[in-house]
Amino acid sequence: MKKVFLALISVIVLFSIFLFSALVCAKTTFITIGTGGLTGVYYPTGGAIAKIVNKQRKEYGIRCTVKSTDGSVYNANAVIKGELDFGIVQSDRQHQAFKGIADWKNKGPQKNLRAVFSIYYESCSLMAAVDTGINSLEDLKGKRVCLGNYGSGHLGNSSDVLKSIGINPDTDIIARYIEPVQAPGLLQDGKIDAFFYTVGHPSGALKEAAAGARKVKFIPITGGEINKLVEERPYYSKMVIPINYYPGVENTHDVPTFGVCATLVTSSKISDKVVYAVTKTIFNDLEAFKKLHPAYALITKAGMLKCLSAPIHPGAMKYYREAGLK
Ligand code: GLU
Repeated sequence: MKKVFLALISVIVLFSIFLFSALVCAKTTFITIGTGGLTGVYYPTGGAIAKIVNKQRKEYGIRCTVKSTDGSVYNANAVIKGELDFGIVQSDRQHQAFKGIADWKNKGPQKNLRAVFSIYYESCSLMAAVDTGINSLEDLKGKRVCLGNYGSGHLGNSSDVLKSIGINPDTDIIARYIEPVQAPGLLQDGKIDAFFYTVGHPSGALKEAAAGARKVKFIPITGGEINKLVEERPYYSKMVIPINYYPGVENTHDVPTFGVCATLVTSSKISDKVVYAVTKTIFNDLEAFKKLHPAYALITKAGMLKCLSAPIHPGAMKYYREAGLK
């Protein structure tokens, strides 16, 4: 009798646990944000967004996780295909994907791409080893230069820079297409002479490259052709690399270059409810968010609505209207 009673109790307990878990799962929406390499700023930014969104799990039932990826182009494509719910994407890539140009020339306009908000500025950074004698963009000729990995946002920026000054990546330099996680180590080991990385500051990769025994420096990305490039492209603007974040570099002043915005994108297929919740939680807790990385120091609510060229997702728009931001 006692055995039957115990068995019955166990069944009831197990069933209750099952029912409770089923209810919790049914109420939870799982979302994933595509980011970038582990030593960039996209990866911690995905983590920062997830942290703030997950804090409000009880209210919105959203559980956010982060995926390390190849970067902007990968993220935009994965969001478009429905493989990721959100992605961090350079503003130039957002523009190009929506318009169907550059990497999307053959695929055409990606009409279901939607903007959510901008986060921080990232600048096209060119770091070279001092012993290579590279002091200007023209000096890259004949050198082993990492232009970025396939799927990254910065491969487009480095290509634009080289094209604008008449350097052919196939014949004038020894081009490498390596991930930013590996580039600093290769520079320190003498396997490459310089690398490009469009990234927010401070970035782990640039810090790592600046902290080694081989002396390095940032090369200014300036000149008449670069001015023309920035004027011609709606998504480029002039910026500087703040060198105080990189004590090891040889530069003594902030380094002029150009850059873009890091933006959060999603797809028109993601529900208004989810995008509204993500947008609202970040905007309502912006001060806590800004403390999570020094690259967020200059973020303002108004600034977060700049650099967006795909249509704003209706869920985000609902929040912007409520908050009087639009
Ligand atoms: N801007 C780079 C890209 O789009 C990623 C930078 C980062 O991971 O912080 O691929």
